[in-house]
Amino acid sequence: MDTEIFNTTESEVRSYSRGWPTVFTKASGSVMTDEQGKDYVDFFAGAGALNYGHNNPELRSELVEYLTSDALVHSLDMMTPSKREFLQTFKDVILEPRGLDYKVMFPGPTGTNTVEAALKLARKVTGRQHILSFTNAFHGMTLGSLSVTGNSMKRKGAGMTLTNSSKIPYDDYFDGETPDFLWLERVLEDSGSGVDKPAAIIVETVQGEGGLNAARAEWLQELRNLTARHDILLIVDDVQAGCGRTGSFFSFEEAGITPDIVCVSKSISGYGLPMALTLFKPELDVWAPGEHNGTFRGSNPGFVTATAALRRYWADDSFQKGHLTQVIDTVQDALTKIAIEVEGTSVKGRGLLTGLYFSDFDAAGKIAKKAFEKGLLVETSGPEDEVLKLMPAMTIELDVLERGLKILADCVSEVTG
Ligand code: PMP
Repeated sequence: MDTEIFNTTESEVRSYSRGWPTVFTKASGSVMTDEQGKDYVDFFAGAGALNYGHNNPELRSELVEYLTSDALVHSLDMMTPSKREFLQTFKDVILEPRGLDYKVMFPGPTGTNTVEAALKLARKVTGRQHILSFTNAFHGMTLGSLSVTGNSMKRKGAGMTLTNSSKIPYDDYFDGETPDFLWLERVLEDSGSGVDKPAAIIVETVQGEGGLNAARAEWLQELRNLTARHDILLIVDDVQAGCGRTGSFFSFEEAGITPDIVCVSKSISGYGLPMALTLFKPELDVWAPGEHNGTFRGSNPGFVTATAALRRYWADDSFQKGHLTQVIDTVQDALTKIAIEVEGTSVKGRGLLTGLYFSDFDAAGKIAKKAFEKGLLVETSGPEDEVLKLMPAMTIELDVLERGLKILADCVSEVTG
């Protein structure tokens, strides 16, 4: 095999950084197969775009039926039955049962597009420019979302990121010392502080790329109260943590907060098709027609699979309380067991956006490499890649899950033992 093509630093092929050295040909559920016919348990799930697994048969049959019916694939801003049905289903199945009242916008095909739309909307609504985001945050690779991203390596070279955006400490940034927002309140109230009042604060409830730091519910509630008191918009970036990954459809449900704007993407289409939503409170709708548009904003095949996923998995709580809870408990139990047994490790994250921190910063990378050899796809997270990140599909079969967790435990003991 030509291994040069996988070398992302030297090859002319500018590949994705997680260059697993094989060619994947097939995938079904949570098992991927490569050209050599080797199977891999997938604990990566398209970086969170495949919460319902690969080629989910129920979603696929709806998609195939749609694609063979001469219905519209691309329709720009025009209304189609699939778009209308998605909007209605999203309202009926997701928003209304949770008492949420949001307008739904299609900002473009990917996660970074919804963050850009959120930042732009917040600035337009408030007439203010300053945006606050958090240490170790990840929000995307276009200039606005990059500016609010914490990882300076990703920003290096971009030069012209947004001025007037600042980072503040995420929950537990100071090693167990709980930061509160008193200092921020003081700064906001002090007319001489020299800090521009922000238009918005953007936050991930679990920092997917930044090391799986999970915010406590009380911290999020405090953040919500502070932003409300000061007329600052609260944006929750649920691109990675949303669509069920933490155990509820939106990751902020456990905290009982209602953000002003919510960014959704990755698994919203249900099938790995590019799709994004920006949700915002109706009173924030200050868009002029055509002010924020684009060619690819919610494809009809994506609406079809998204609607099917919402109906199949979220129309009642049987999936959430049944299989999803079982998968989460199994993963959390396995990680807790390792964390107890292996010195220098601890469990990070929440639900199925979770993993293991290693005080030996080289360990997670070595384990991921070994896991690949043994037939498990798992990646790393955090500023030093010090966290082994598990994000299996919510629909993973329990025997496949157990197989993956066994490989993981074996690799951990081989590397740390
Ligand atoms: N926000 C968060 C929280 C993310 O995890 C990501 C992607 N990892 C993005 C935004 C950007 O999404 P995309 O890569 O689809 O542009």
